Amino acid sequence: MSAVYGAIEAGGTKFVCAVAESPGPDLVTKQIIPTTTPDQTLAKAVEFFRGRSLRGLGIACFGPLDLERGRIGATPKTGWVGGDVVRAFREALGVPIRFDTDVNGAALGEARHGAGKCMDPLIYVTVGTGIGTGVLVSGRPVHGMMHPEAGHLFVKRRADDAFHGSCPFHADCLEGMASGPAIEARWGSPGSALPADHPAWELEAHYLAQAMCDLIYVVSPQRIVLGGGVMNHQGLLGLIRQETRALLAGYVQTLADPMMLDEQIVPAALGDDAGIVGALELAFEAAQASSLTGPPPV
Ligand code: ZN
Repeated sequence: MSAVYGAIEAGGTKFVCAVAESPGPDLVTKQIIPTTTPDQTLAKAVEFFRGRSLRGLGIACFGPLDLERGRIGATPKTGWVGGDVVRAFREALGVPIRFDTDVNGAALGEARHGAGKCMDPLIYVTVGTGIGTGVLVSGRPVHGMMHPEAGHLFVKRRADDAFHGSCPFHADCLEGMASGPAIEARWGSPGSALPADHPAWELEAHYLAQAMCDLIYVVSPQRIVLGGGVMNHQGLLGLIRQETRALLAGYVQTLADPMMLDEQIVPAALGDDAGIVGALELAFEAAQASSLTGPPPV
């Protein structure tokens, strides 16, 4: 049996497990495991990889994460706070592992195989069940005290918006005002059921454009890639670009030209595969680091 790289995109509703012979978008085998309890879910994922000749394993996981200990932090996902993700795989499989956020993973996938090639710094933003932000600087995911959490940026409420906000921590942060659940709670209908001319989309662009400006000011990215289910709505990207340009108000001269902004804020190219393709990159890196220095701690 030839050696392969293993990848997991660990999400709040499903774990996508895959193996491939080399990094890239071509996955050899893929299996979806519903996210239930940590014990059940991690055991099923371990079984998927057991018996395969793994060079390394990459895990791109929903957060927030304690990257040093390889665990899940203060997630609202029931039962998963403190979930010992890395230990489960290290003990069962004994392979080099690299662990990062799902959005840092997606950023790596888009950077190496999708819409972010040769763009540095690169930011990936997912707008879906939550809002998450992966940030790559010099090709590396940003880690520090923890990892970027720009989904919880505070946004200026539009005067006519009385919605309380859906974030269990901050109520009306970006995620609380603009995630998929926020759209559904505010309008009584999921975004996928709202027509193109519904006022929801201008409001959505109002909040997301504020985040675009903040990210541009703080990180100075060469590109921001937008993905996630909410971004599937036709026309939303155009509204975000338009509103971002208005909010920047000519201050960032390079982006005053709409053509430049079209290059700055782009849709994801890998779609739903960005996370798993990025996790495969993490697996490759884990194997490389291990061959140079022996097994890394995590
Ligand atoms: Zn929040």
